Amino acid sequence: MIGRGLASGLLLLLAGCATARGRPVSAPGELAYRISGPSTPRAIDVEILRVRGGPAAFTFATPGAVERVRAQLEDGAFVELSVPASGELDVPNDWVALRYRFSLDDVHRWFGSTDLSWGVASQDELLLPGAAWLLRPRVPLPDLTATISTAGPAALLPWEPQSEGRWAVSSQQLAEPGFHAFGGRRCYLTVGQGRLEVAVLGAEHPLGDAALCEWIRSSAAEVLQVRAEFPVTRAAISIVPVQSNEASPFGRLLPSHPRSLGFLVGSQAVSEDFAKDIVALHELLHLAHPSFEPKETWLTEGLATYFTEVARARSGRQSPENGWEELLDGFDRGAEVSGGMRMDEVIREQGVAGRLRAAAWTGVWFLLALDLELRRLTQGLRALDDVLDALGNRPISLAQFAAQVDALAGQPVFEAVFARQRGRPAFALRQDLLDALGVHRSDGKVRFEEAPRAAEREALMRIKVRPNR
Ligand SMILES: [Zn+2]
Repeated sequence: MIGRGLASGLLLLLAGCATARGRPVSAPGELAYRISGPSTPRAIDVEILRVRGGPAAFTFATPGAVERVRAQLEDGAFVELSVPASGELDVPNDWVALRYRFSLDDVHRWFGSTDLSWGVASQDELLLPGAAWLLRPRVPLPDLTATISTAGPAALLPWEPQSEGRWAVSSQQLAEPGFHAFGGRRCYLTVGQGRLEVAVLGAEHPLGDAALCEWIRSSAAEVLQVRAEFPVTRAAISIVPVQSNEASPFGRLLPSHPRSLGFLVGSQAVSEDFAKDIVALHELLHLAHPSFEPKETWLTEGLATYFTEVARARSGRQSPENGWEELLDGFDRGAEVSGGMRMDEVIREQGVAGRLRAAAWTGVWFLLALDLELRRLTQGLRALDDVLDALGNRPISLAQFAAQVDALAGQPVFEAVFARQRGRPAFALRQDLLDALGVHRSDGKVRFEEAPRAAEREALMRIKVRPNR
């Protein structure tokens, strides 16, 4: 059998040109990224060597931190290139090496306070989003590969290393680079089929590394209250201490294959704060749902937020009553911030700055109604958990998500639930649903009563018993 690489090589040999049947054929190529540091001032030095072929069009996906790149040309000459505001850098066609420095001090100076969008430093260790420091080919090229090697403290990148300090990645993997930790101590966790590699950066937390790793492990184990199996086989997780008494003031999952997450942890937080934390669980639950093309933030944030409360009740971290209180408080906040907008309007504005919370809680409300309807129509045999198990992590459209819900229900249910809600102010029908479920709240406290749909209410906060368990 002729492999894809060999076939395109033959085409180039025979045709001797860059196109075949009118389509561009990308020249196979190999780039070698060499990273040294962290160095003073809180920076890494990057060298990109053109091993074979490779493009002349590059980009910083999150531009601004690197102003200049030095290119070395085939004849040995050097050219200083200014990185435009777009981050898109065209280098001379005869380049052989590119060199630049990414400095968090520059980020501080130019953008004020830094966060996980740009990267954080703790002592001489760094957690950086790849999108900020990485100059990558502007367009992913199917036949381009890259090796990455680091000199200096051990790095944790999303990808499985080939050997100590060396990774081989595709051009597509570089396009979604995730989080990169330089330095730090390690712990290795197993949760179901998932292997989580954790980098703990900076000064040791008063609770110790083991307590932080256990916080990640127990949060990841709660994902198994929702999914039948841990949703990924590998995830790279980095933890950086900051001055705060919150367990985790901020956490984020960044797109990468495999996945990678970053968490800031409060250096003054105590055990009880970590026991109550929901940031780690919320971010890890983002591993448990498909990504949507185009983006459906109301659903993805809705899924992680909804299952954060459900999973905590199922694991016993909170009572079912507390779980409902959290949901109802969220609906109140969602109704307040959406200010009477119709549900379809909230969804239409999901990408608008300041509308995220309204969109997320609108999603939670819709998913609760959908989950309960799926349970009702299947006499409790199917639930939203099964939809996530069936879809896995591959990118899908909203229509594919709806089709999976309908397939499990055995009838069109997604559109029916959506149609009931879309033209009304979000959350308008919640009292009717809560009455049917026997969920009553007074003085902020929830109590349960006998009601026609009490069985669905009870089943929701219990782990679903699957035939294959
Ligand atoms: Zn989220």
